[in-house]
Amino acid sequence: MRSRRNFLQAATATALSVPFINWRIAPETANGDAPQKILRVAIMGLGSYGTRVADAMKDCTKAKLVGAISGTPSKLTDWQRKYGIPEKNCYNYENFDAIKDNKDIDAVYIITPNALHHPQTLRVAKAGKHVICEKPMAINAKEGREMVAACKAAGVKLLIGYRLHFEPKTLEIVRMRQSGEMGKALFFQGLSGFRIGDPTQWRLNRKLAGGGAMMDIGIYSVNGARYMIGEDPVWVTAQETKNDPVKFKEGVDETITFQFGFPSGATASCLSTYSMNNLDRFFVNGERGFGELMPATGYGPIQGRTHKGPLTQPHTTHQTLQMDGMADIILNNQQNMVPVDGEEGLKDMIIVDAIYEAAKTGKKVAIKYT
Ligand code: NDP
Repeated sequence: MRSRRNFLQAATATALSVPFINWRIAPETANGDAPQKILRVAIMGLGSYGTRVADAMKDCTKAKLVGAISGTPSKLTDWQRKYGIPEKNCYNYENFDAIKDNKDIDAVYIITPNALHHPQTLRVAKAGKHVICEKPMAINAKEGREMVAACKAAGVKLLIGYRLHFEPKTLEIVRMRQSGEMGKALFFQGLSGFRIGDPTQWRLNRKLAGGGAMMDIGIYSVNGARYMIGEDPVWVTAQETKNDPVKFKEGVDETITFQFGFPSGATASCLSTYSMNNLDRFFVNGERGFGELMPATGYGPIQGRTHKGPLTQPHTTHQTLQMDGMADIILNNQQNMVPVDGEEGLKDMIIVDAIYEAAKTGKKVAIKYT
C-alpha cells in the first residue's frame, strides 16, 4: 500500500501542481447572490458507467467530483489527471473505510456490480458519508432493507441512481398524469431490453449480478410502471423463457414477461430481455389521454408524445441533472417530484423478488411492502 501511495504521489505531482480548491462552498455568483453549497462526491467503481457519471459531473453546478475508489491503481492515476482529483481523496476497496476521516468528501456514489452494492453501502454509511447507489440497489429486498436501515442508523441519506426521475420529458408525463390531464391512469406498457454481448461479463454472472436481464434492464419497466401509473403494484404474474441456457445459466434470466395489478384497478404489461434489441418504450394510457416515451430510458435524447402532441422539453445530459438534483436533496433537503430515496429502491427490489417468485411458481403473487 505504501509503495502504491508513493507511486500515485509521484505520478500525479505534475498534474496536481494546481492547488486543490475546497469545493464545499462555491464561489460567490456573478450577480452577488449567496454562495451555493456544493455536494462533494467520490465515485466508487471506475467502470463504464462511473466514467459516464464523472464526465457528466463536469457540467454540474451543485455537485463536484472530488474523490475516487477503485481496485485498479492505474485508473486512480488516470482519474487524478483527468478530473483533477487529489491523491489524498483516492482509496481502494480495502482502505476506503478511512474516508470517515476525510472532511472533503460528503457522499460516495457506488457504481460497482450489483452484488457489491449492499456491503459497500453498509461500509460507506458506517463511515458517516451519504450514499448514492446505482440500480438495482441490491440483489434482493432483504439486502435493500438492511441498506435503508444502516443509512438511517448512521444518519446519512441513501439515494438510488434513478437518473430518469430528473428527465424533463419523463417528468412532463408524470405531471400530466398527476394533474388529471389524462384522466385516471388505466394501463402501462414497458418494454426494456437489448442483446447482451460478451458471455464472460459480470452481468451474466449470477453471484455478481444477482440475476439477469431483470436486475439490469427489466428494472426500468418495474420502476417506470410505478411512476407512470402513480401507484405501487399489489400483484404480479410472470413468465420466463430461456432460449440460450449456455449463455444464461441457472439464476440468470434471459427473458421475462410480467404483468402488474395496481390498487386502483390499473394494470401493466412488461417485457425484460437480454435477447432482443429495439425495446425501449413506455406507454401510459389514461381515460382521456396517453403518454409515450420511445426511447424511454436510454441516455437520450428521450423522445416522446402525448395526446396533446410531441414532447419538446430540451435534452440535458441525464447524469448532470441527476447529480445537481441529488445535491439539492442531500444538502437542502429538497424533495424530488419522483422520489429517488432508498425506500423507492427497496420497493423495486420487493417487486423484483415477487416477479422471480411468480415466474418460478407460475402463480399470481401478492406484493407486500411491509
Ligand atoms: P462496469 O463493469 O463497466 O464497471 C464496474 C466497475 O466496478 C469495474 O470497472 C470496477 O472498477 C468495479 N468492480 C469492483 N469489483 C468488481 C468485480 N468483482 N467485477 C467487476 N467490476 C468490479 O459496469 P457498469 O459501470 O456498466 O455498471 C456498474 C453499475 O452501474 C451496475 O450496478 C449497473 O446496473 C449500473 N448502471 C447504471 C446505469 C444507469 O443508467 N443508471 C447504466 C449502466 C450501469 P474499478 O476497476 O475501478 O474497481
